[in-house]
Amino acid sequence: MSKPDSFHMSPDAFREHGHDLVDWIADYYEHVEDFPVQSPLPPGDVRDRLPEAPPETGEDFAAMMEDVEDIILPGLLHWQSPNFFGYFPANTSGPSILGELLSAGLGVQGMLWATSPACTELETHVLDWLVDMLALPDGFKSTEDGGGVIQDTASSATLCSLLAARERATDGATNEQGGDGRLVAYASTQAHSSIEKAVKIAGLGREQLRLIDVDATYAMRPDALATQIEQDRAEGLTPCYVCATVGSTSSNAMDPLDAIGRICRDEDVWLHADAAMAGTAALCPEFRGMHDGLEHADSYCFNPHKWMFTNFDCDAFFVKDRAALINALSILPEYLRNEATASGAVIDYRDWQVPLGRRFRALKLWFVIRHYGVDGLRHHVRRHVELAQEFAGWVDASDAFERIAPVPLNLVCFQHVDGDDASRSIMERLNASGDLFLTHTKLDGRFTLRLCVGQTYTERRHVEHAWARLQEEAAIVATG
Ligand SMILES: *Cc1c(COP(=O)(O)O)cnc(C)c1O
Repeated sequence: MSKPDSFHMSPDAFREHGHDLVDWIADYYEHVEDFPVQSPLPPGDVRDRLPEAPPETGEDFAAMMEDVEDIILPGLLHWQSPNFFGYFPANTSGPSILGELLSAGLGVQGMLWATSPACTELETHVLDWLVDMLALPDGFKSTEDGGGVIQDTASSATLCSLLAARERATDGATNEQGGDGRLVAYASTQAHSSIEKAVKIAGLGREQLRLIDVDATYAMRPDALATQIEQDRAEGLTPCYVCATVGSTSSNAMDPLDAIGRICRDEDVWLHADAAMAGTAALCPEFRGMHDGLEHADSYCFNPHKWMFTNFDCDAFFVKDRAALINALSILPEYLRNEATASGAVIDYRDWQVPLGRRFRALKLWFVIRHYGVDGLRHHVRRHVELAQEFAGWVDASDAFERIAPVPLNLVCFQHVDGDDASRSIMERLNASGDLFLTHTKLDGRFTLRLCVGQTYTERRHVEHAWARLQEEAAIVATG
């Protein structure tokens, strides 16, 4: 196609390539199951196939798509394959992809209410919806003293909650003068690595993070938390923050929010609940027990970009006292001053996050919720949980594998009875085969296989196939 003199892609060319690309994506989803889930490429292979220098003159779109097929596709881990059971789901869906495309098309930068009122107001509104959809405490709503905001990741939500906790504990002094080295944060030994990262970034210092012991289900022991807080107080330190995990990354362990929350309330310590993956399950009333005690939490986050069919990035972060968050993060240079901000009648989300700029992520979330309806979302979450529970039953009944953690939702942790080497070899062989993809963790020092059911299009036959392949490999390990 001839390029106009401006070098731009003309609206007509955009229309044509856009239609082709949407077709391409639809084809990808029709065939994604046929690709080896894990990329077989060795390190450096993708770069070796890319030209050393950028093109001096513009290229055709068709040439780019050819390279996508030849160079990029073979170098992907197919997270959207229904045979993907690794890490955690990072799922997406048709309405989400279209919302993302529309967001890119509109190209809005929503740092202030004034820079696109709809960008801010839709986000506030959809996050209030989520409070109802997950039956979260009403205090997290924007119509109360709290409110929700979309962060890029749970890691950012955790960091923001810690910064707010830090300021509350020091009456804003750390914002003015920096820390005095006395603030202490707490999480369980099973908490996500993002807590440690946040503690380092927020200037508490890694040594000021106390990793609290867990019980037999890998959940935080509230008595151990209380003892540690007491000990730190006795040493003149200032406990300021507890991160409770609702569904740990390793094993989906559920910290007891109610008991932890009572301690935080009595000790005047900020409680953040990290429900990055598991939170989505609260769409279903039967799984809401994991949130018992959430009314004690000062903040909460979960990732629609994990298990709620909304493509990365989209973390929903809620605070009970939005003033605490804004006090920690707001900044107002002259060039951003405007009447709406000055009036105090609007939300400026740049004060609710670390970066200034932000894109229109609420669109894809809004599309997903409207397309599926709460009912459709519940249907899929229930289906995933049922499949994982069924798989857990197969593990329990087998002689080759043993399950080693409770399965509250959609993640099964298990080991081969012959121990670490056998488990590791089974995982490596399966992943190399491309038939499915699994990852591992360590629980009690032992190499543990994890099978997480949550990919948008995973059906019963995929879980059955995974189990059949696991048994095949176990038989080979046993004879080998
Ligand atoms: C996945 C996960 C995270 C990190 O999520 P990001 O959004 O990638 O930062 C944090 N906490 C838990 C419990 C998780 O499962």
